Amino acid sequence: MTFITRFAPSPTGYLHLGHAFSALTAFDAAQAAGGEFILRIEDIDHTRCRPSFETAIYEDLAWLGVTWPGPVLRQSEHLADYQAALDDLRAMGVVYPDHRTRKTQVEAALSAPQGDEAEAVQETADNPAWRLSLEAARLHLGAGYDRLDFREMAFRPGIHPARPEINGDVVLGRKDIGIAYHLAVVVDDARQGVTDIVRGHDLFDATHTQVLLQALLGLATPRYHHHALLLDDEGRRLAKRKGSKSLRDYRADGMGAIDVKAMLAAAPKA
Ligand code: GLU
Repeated sequence: MTFITRFAPSPTGYLHLGHAFSALTAFDAAQAAGGEFILRIEDIDHTRCRPSFETAIYEDLAWLGVTWPGPVLRQSEHLADYQAALDDLRAMGVVYPDHRTRKTQVEAALSAPQGDEAEAVQETADNPAWRLSLEAARLHLGAGYDRLDFREMAFRPGIHPARPEINGDVVLGRKDIGIAYHLAVVVDDARQGVTDIVRGHDLFDATHTQVLLQALLGLATPRYHHHALLLDDEGRRLAKRKGSKSLRDYRADGMGAIDVKAMLAAAPKA
């Protein structure tokens, strides 16, 4: 059985224990399956990503004993490919422009339904955001839309019907950075031949939208393994939390990979 998985961090900060757990879970799964573990740098958001954080990712993962083949795919070097996928979706008529600014989109989402949304909208006709239209996607795929599903191997194992409605008409193209996460991830998982996606179950809901995008773009749907998330002593989610101790902090304290692995094994998870 072919098994190719990936760890796909965004270099917007230093890696934390939650990232270490995710990377090691994927790495160990690849080892156990005699498969391959890929590292991908998800750095499309140039407003938040920093080269120093990318360098730190390589250092911290190597310190953990994780290895990966080069060259590493950096999403910032492939923006034209994501734009091409967006163009394909536009040609299918399954995305629509949203001319509101990002700020007013957020405000509208937070305000009471309908309310004064129309007044808050600012026209930026030359550079719209692009949203996936679930209604148009349903028309485009016909009966196939209701048959979309994915296989979950870890978190609630079994075949899950894809229900992209839980996320609504997500943004796929952004005004500020061109492309949004869901589209880049789907394009890259396919181009890298990823067969098994190992990631935290905080992304379980995102899977529903990504399965629909795979169907629209004619891409295979991988198997999913959403792992449990680390909890702190009070039972709150630890994964990726800002302000919690980074892997380099543990390293500076004189800890080694073996100590981190022991901590991860002992940590409460849910
Ligand atoms: N880049 C995403 C993150 O750092 C992960 C994407 C994924 O695993 O699908 O949260």
